[in-house]
Amino acid sequence: MKIICIGRNYTEHAKELNNSVPSDPIIFLKPKTALLIDGKALYYPEFTNDLQYECELVVRMSKNGKYIQEKFAHKYYNAISLGIDFTARDVQQKQKEKGLPWEIAKAFDGSAVVGNFVPLQEGQNIQQLNFELKINDESKQIGNTTDMIFSVDKLIAYASQFFTLNIGDLIFTGTPSGVGSLRVTDELVGYLEGKEVLSCLIK
Ligand code: MG
Repeated sequence: MKIICIGRNYTEHAKELNNSVPSDPIIFLKPKTALLIDGKALYYPEFTNDLQYECELVVRMSKNGKYIQEKFAHKYYNAISLGIDFTARDVQQKQKEKGLPWEIAKAFDGSAVVGNFVPLQEGQNIQQLNFELKINDESKQIGNTTDMIFSVDKLIAYASQFFTLNIGDLIFTGTPSGVGSLRVTDELVGYLEGKEVLSCLIK
């Protein structure tokens, strides 16, 4: 399986990092070894002094596909959850300044926490989902998927031009504003439509 991640898919988040709003989706990948599930803790990596959280809607593919048309994309996924796209922001900044790829800042072991999946209900609009990240019980990010620049179906159509999408692949759909730094002992809890689906401790 692979993890496809989308950068800058919410205008307010692009602005908070002084990035321009993209005209096409920005895509990067995380390997399977980035996956952190079953409520496991993340050990603060030694190579960064600025580990940051980005809470995102995660979509799980239920069918294989290539060149998927936007109008059919909804037939290719059936479960959703929340994930944290952990980012070594200081490392990423250095890579960006040098025009180098981001992987060491974004695709390291444990950098993709994913919560429990819930089935997408019949008739449920994936572009009208509320989600929230609390850290140590304090609300840090509140998002609604209606604010995405590129819809989930557009992202799938776009990504599948380049990559065959397989059953079980995960798509991190971008983060709303409110990203910030983490410290050891922080406890992250994610809520999707008001229900807790994700928790992760920083050790
Ligand atoms: Mg992200």
